[in-house]
Amino acid sequence: MQQLEEWDDFVATRYRQGKSEEEFRNYEADANPGVTQFYRQNHANQTFDFVLQKKAEYCGLTRGKKSVWEMAEYLNTLVDESDPDTDLTQIEHLLQTAEAIRKDGHPRWFILAGFVHDLGKVLCLYGEPQWAVVGDTFPVGCSYSNDIVFPEFFAANPDSKMPKYQSKYGVYKPNCGLGNVHLSFGHDEYIYHVTRRYLPEKAQYMLRYHSFYPAHKHGAYRHLMDDHDERMFEWVRKFNPYDLYSKGRERPKLQAILPFYQDLIAEFFPDQIDW
Ligand code: FE
Ligand code: FE
Repeated sequence: MQQLEEWDDFVATRYRQGKSEEEFRNYEADANPGVTQFYRQNHANQTFDFVLQKKAEYCGLTRGKKSVWEMAEYLNTLVDESDPDTDLTQIEHLLQTAEAIRKDGHPRWFILAGFVHDLGKVLCLYGEPQWAVVGDTFPVGCSYSNDIVFPEFFAANPDSKMPKYQSKYGVYKPNCGLGNVHLSFGHDEYIYHVTRRYLPEKAQYMLRYHSFYPAHKHGAYRHLMDDHDERMFEWVRKFNPYDLYSKGRERPKLQAILPFYQDLIAEFFPDQIDW
């Protein structure tokens, strides 16, 4: 995959507004070879041990202090080399998502969640491969749902040969709550840890689970969720259309809206936070 946007675009195509579950099943037709190759690597390499290792590496937030805006500018150095004129920059995607939320009159924390939701993609700039940063997320340590895209690619994952990881509940207890479940590692988990101290719980769920399509789009893994997760997932579902469908709106006019976002960031975050 040449750029991270290919995955985002593929997800948006898969869930084009009005597309039925049955039409979704034809996703292979929407996937280009780069996207297919990406899922091959993602599904083969996201093992239970890999996830624990990456969480230990990044979720302790030991990579220094930066302001939220500085990190957005740093993320913006990830540029799409194929077509820089038409594709949105990372900051533009964040602002488009946030502006669409703002136009619908949602609370300020919700708008801010829109602005920060993909900042975890800086993992790419830390040197992580794309399959460890983006992609639909799924639980590791238990059997793979057929509601995950390209489930056949899990055959290449070493965990698929380990019976302890392949029963319905695997290493987990029934309805143990998603906070006790390890999802495949990526930008969702990282940004959740960076921001959790500063944002309301509903926003934390939006950030942590926005790529967990098997659950929030298809209702998979309810046997691991508890009642609190079920209630909070309403917010994950409320967030998703802004992420998927705000692209293609007009390019945000940065100078005009910058003061609003600087105030908004200052309202919830200290000048610098740990990354
Ligand atoms: Fe994302
Ligand atoms: Fe996004």
